[in-house]
Amino acid sequence: MKALRVEDNNLKLTDSPVPCREGEALVRMMMAGICNTDIEIARGYADFRGTLGHEFVGVVEESPDKSQIGRRVVGEINVGCGQCGLCRENDPRHCPDRTALGIRGRDGAFAEYLSLPSRNLLVVPDVVSDRQAVFTEPLAAALAILDQVEIRASHRVAVVGDGKLGQLISRVIAGTGCDLTLIGKHDAKLELAARAGVKTAKLGATKAPGFDFVVEASGSSGGMEIALDLIRPRGAIILKSTFRGAVRLDTSRIVVNEVSVIGSRCGRFETALRLLESGGVDLEPLVAREYKLADGLEAMAEAARPGTLKVLLTN
Ligand SMILES: [Zn+2]
Ligand SMILES: [Zn+2]
Repeated sequence: MKALRVEDNNLKLTDSPVPCREGEALVRMMMAGICNTDIEIARGYADFRGTLGHEFVGVVEESPDKSQIGRRVVGEINVGCGQCGLCRENDPRHCPDRTALGIRGRDGAFAEYLSLPSRNLLVVPDVVSDRQAVFTEPLAAALAILDQVEIRASHRVAVVGDGKLGQLISRVIAGTGCDLTLIGKHDAKLELAARAGVKTAKLGATKAPGFDFVVEASGSSGGMEIALDLIRPRGAIILKSTFRGAVRLDTSRIVVNEVSVIGSRCGRFETALRLLESGGVDLEPLVAREYKLADGLEAMAEAARPGTLKVLLTN
């Protein structure tokens, strides 16, 4: 089968064997989304080798759970050991021995087929299109913020970064009814968010520090510094960007202003699917373009261009 893989620090379209993992389900990929993490992995982040991709919707071809066969599904990306305390509590997201689809120790979704345990798969409701369902993973990641901090209607919240993730996060946080501002550099992107009812500001235009929460989703190393400019004393910064390399930071600004810094990664798929089913968010405007898997290298190059929205792969 065709697979888009990182091998010897190179991104390649390969002819690879169909994955076969004992006791797991086999899913035929229908659509997959390219995210910043994939681009960073192709640049060396996470030291990953193998098939890229963790955002997908597909059809189950084989599964130990026969009721899943033929169903359209999305899949939780973390696969735990099944034995540790976290796994026994049904939360493998921080299992020390976990693998993660297309990120850690497990081939991903930029291929004709992928393998995941049947317990990771969730059936997609019929009313949710492929082009919406493919956003389940990043939408769940955005919703994770609301599990980590309590955002109330009285709070002032800033999202830094008008790219794919910032767009998604601001649509989710807008649902809390708080005083939300999306801060970014690109007029067209800010306009896109404004059309979804989100208040926006150009980077540098918001002077007074004073946001209760700042979500850093810029995807770049300068984002944390910007977040520190915007946060009020004793406020909380939620970090969402993952990238290759380290950030130089004046940590005394965190100390003096008693700022909390919270890392935020994966969320729950169930919540994301319910939100998509209810029509509570419309993610279709975030799609830039669809490519065939066979044109995956071209798709990755386009997705890596600064300012590109969600690039999708189809099988
Ligand atoms: Zn992603
Ligand atoms: Zn475990």
